[in-house]
Amino acid sequence: MIQWNKVSRKVVIEMTPLQQRIETIEDTICQACERVGRDRQEVTVIAVTKQVSTERTQQVLESDIVHLGENRPEGLLAKQQAIPQGAVWHFIGNVQSRKVKEIIERVDYLHSLDRISIANEIQKRSAEPVDCFVQVNVSGEDSKSGLKPSETEGFIEALKDYDKIRVIGLMTMAPLTEDREEIRNVFKSLRELRDDLASKNMKHAPVTKLSMGMSNDYSIAIEEGATHVRIGTALVGSESEGDE
Ligand SMILES: *Cc1c(COP(=O)(O)O)cnc(C)c1O
Repeated sequence: MIQWNKVSRKVVIEMTPLQQRIETIEDTICQACERVGRDRQEVTVIAVTKQVSTERTQQVLESDIVHLGENRPEGLLAKQQAIPQGAVWHFIGNVQSRKVKEIIERVDYLHSLDRISIANEIQKRSAEPVDCFVQVNVSGEDSKSGLKPSETEGFIEALKDYDKIRVIGLMTMAPLTEDREEIRNVFKSLRELRDDLASKNMKHAPVTKLSMGMSNDYSIAIEEGATHVRIGTALVGSESEGDE
């Protein structure tokens, strides 16, 4: 927002709360990169818009964040109808196999591949190869989806003949805990698994990317090698608070 300040006789650029949050996140990311000697360019911010309106989502895009994440087919379709172009779409939620056909031609990245039934549907329904992250349940909580770390290699090898699937990386969710070391260990384990799988040089599965880190833990995730952070509330805010 550009305003004329009568007292100082200057044009002042006033940031909206959304722009302020984005700036805070940007600073935090740069500092995390600096601490571990990474290049800021290695990290892609995905704004998770699942809990906000299409208006707020539009404002996010206007703030130059083009990667958007949704976790339900309905939410994705509604946002895409309102925002026909300019965004890169990430599907980050669990998807039922019968719903794959509704989304697969509409997303640029799928972060939640963890079952052969989903892979079969993608193979059947997609005209083009889809960039996928394989979801791994590193923390082992029952409530979380994803493969066991020990099952991941076998799962990825089994996708060799699926020419509509490209396994570009791994995705995980940190456990719900205040213990920052426990969270860090989960991210570290995912990175080690990624390094191991990447070293196999599988043609269909380069496995170079790491999708990890949300509002509460993205700086730890970046220190541990995240290439994609999925940030919801800390970025988009919560509209119920009427903060804008
Ligand atoms: C909701 C969600 C996020 C973002 O969560 P915040 O804590 O709001 O940042 C990230 N990843 C997945 C898979 C989600 O469902």
